[in-house]
Amino acid sequence: MSVPDSIEPIVGIALGTTNSLVAIANWPPHPAPPSPPRILPDDRGRPMLPSVVRFDTSTPARPIELGYEARANALLHPLSTIASVKRLMGRSTADAANDLPHLSFRVVEGPNNTARVALPTSSGEPHVVSPQEVSAIILRALRTQAADRLGVPVSKAVVTVPAYFDDAQRQATRDAGRLAGLDVVRIINEPTAAALAYGLGLRQLAGAPLAPQIVAVFDLGGGTFDVSILRITPAADSADSTAADCFQVLSTSGDTHLGGDDFDSALLSLFTREITERFGPMTFPPETLQSLRQFAEAAKIRLSAADSASIRIDLGGGRVYQRLITRAEYQTLIAPLVQRTIDCCRRALKDARPLMHDEPLSAVILVGGATRTPLVRDKVREEFNLEPYTALDPDQVVALGAAVQAGVLMGGGSGRRSLLLDVVPLSLGLETVGGAMAKLIIRNSTVPCRAAETFSTSVDNQTGIVLNVLQGEREMAADCRSLGRFELKGIPPMPAGIPKLKVEFAVDASGILTVHAVEERSAKRLSAQIVPNHGLTADEVARLERESVTHAREDMTRHRIADLVTNARLDLHWISRQLDKLAAEVPSDLRTDLESRIATLRSMTDAAGRDWTSVDANAMHRAKDDLDRASVRLHELSIARSLQDDAPGKAPRSTPPR
Ligand code: ADP
Ligand code: MG
Repeated sequence: MSVPDSIEPIVGIALGTTNSLVAIANWPPHPAPPSPPRILPDDRGRPMLPSVVRFDTSTPARPIELGYEARANALLHPLSTIASVKRLMGRSTADAANDLPHLSFRVVEGPNNTARVALPTSSGEPHVVSPQEVSAIILRALRTQAADRLGVPVSKAVVTVPAYFDDAQRQATRDAGRLAGLDVVRIINEPTAAALAYGLGLRQLAGAPLAPQIVAVFDLGGGTFDVSILRITPAADSADSTAADCFQVLSTSGDTHLGGDDFDSALLSLFTREITERFGPMTFPPETLQSLRQFAEAAKIRLSAADSASIRIDLGGGRVYQRLITRAEYQTLIAPLVQRTIDCCRRALKDARPLMHDEPLSAVILVGGATRTPLVRDKVREEFNLEPYTALDPDQVVALGAAVQAGVLMGGGSGRRSLLLDVVPLSLGLETVGGAMAKLIIRNSTVPCRAAETFSTSVDNQTGIVLNVLQGEREMAADCRSLGRFELKGIPPMPAGIPKLKVEFAVDASGILTVHAVEERSAKRLSAQIVPNHGLTADEVARLERESVTHAREDMTRHRIADLVTNARLDLHWISRQLDKLAAEVPSDLRTDLESRIATLRSMTDAAGRDWTSVDANAMHRAKDDLDRASVRLHELSIARSLQDDAPGKAPRSTPPR
């Protein structure tokens, strides 16, 4: 079938931590009926591409192995085999600190604190590459694979990312696409893609319109676990091809260091323990560890389908480790890991509850290879009291969903439109002059969204202003994450406070933030160039969320103490000055009383200045009240004095602070 030149395919890509896939829907265009999404496999018919790249040791280092081959040899070349590079995308070295123990290769700090991969070379000088470049190698391979299967060039893609990926991580993903010669036309959240594929599957199965519902997406991959609660709202009029289905992420939770690889590790440590028990202490060379790990994964996969797996490992020198492992035994090993996924599910449900309006969950969609584990399915069934939805291949569901969205964007076929609504994972705002966080876009707002705030200058003829863009839930800027600073330049010179600077935040459908600014009196557009810092980690998102709850009370106390200290200092200053000024007029008992109260309050404000947590706000409040009451007589003396100082008939020049 010939394809009109004007229509270009848009593929859907799941760029996974462990495995990546590419899929297409509605291709060739305009068939009748529209074709469902399908995976575009490699030339050997394998649907998945392990997200692993091995580099040679030339300068500059070049990729020499990719996918299955690179993974099979990974442990033999730990420093030059790059796996799980997704963990470094859009992140700083500090962000990645928790991941470093899980990575075999060296991570160094690049410009702007970004995490980079340092590859060993024969010259001795490491060759440094960015995570985007490594991801681009994987994306390029998928792009070629898709073009080969379709027989036409491929240059556009919808790429999926975890729902908690922040601005920098999404930007990095888009940049990786660009490096691979792919225009990333849309970034969508992985759970949203899974729900899209599920929605499509349901409609095909039922031959009926999709019902409004709330679903959970349980995604257990190789090294990460994510659970999301989504609301699916079908288009009101299914006959209208421009109507939109809405897939809204209500909440997400997860664990960035929990996945099928941990199941392998549990088996691996069982093997190594038993081997040393049986044959005496030994160190395992990388080759042995590599094959032990492969045995562990094979046993794990076998135990998903069978009640037992037999293992036979020839360690050389007549030493053969052999044993039968039953599913029951294996399940005892992994039970604590599976329990952690369930704990996350409870958290996600708790967060989504207020948005669910008492509606029940109607499905749990299983995503990720590790959800083939029977114990996982049992625990999920038990926890949600629902039969998990497994009609779609858990490895493929995200890529298929991305292809559905790509098909819609392509406008090919008679496919319905599906509008996606995702949410902003953490609030976005600006730092105020007082160091507080002014939220412009609050957490869980659906994207795309925009919000604006108006500012002015504080100095005459000020032509520039620097604004700090923040992400987080806490009240004070210092407790939030700075995404970057931007400078508004070219403000027309005007007296302080006159310019009206309208700053607008816009989060696009891919979840990427842009900032626009205009001076409204002169209608002059200002350049608002963000100097990005780097990404927030999922751990950090989780931590910041948790902290916003645990610290809510603390933040309020801190605000209260800050206000109290400011007012107390004003009082102390005024009272001390009056005591000096009115020296002779103050009776000695009043002076003694005031001085002791001043000392008490001053020791509190000084302590608060050093460490606000050491101060009892109520005690400080009482001390300030006591001093205020005791100083009434001083106020009277001061007024009398100022009346004497001034010409008769004049109002007092100073009034006591109240
Ligand atoms: P990611 O999303 O991290 O890229 P995947 O969804 O592809 O990862 O999941 C990969 C994980 O799934 C690996 O740990 C793999 O061993 C595991 N896995 C694949 N098939 C099975 C199976 N049949 N039973 C248990 N685990 C499996
Ligand atoms: Mg995945």
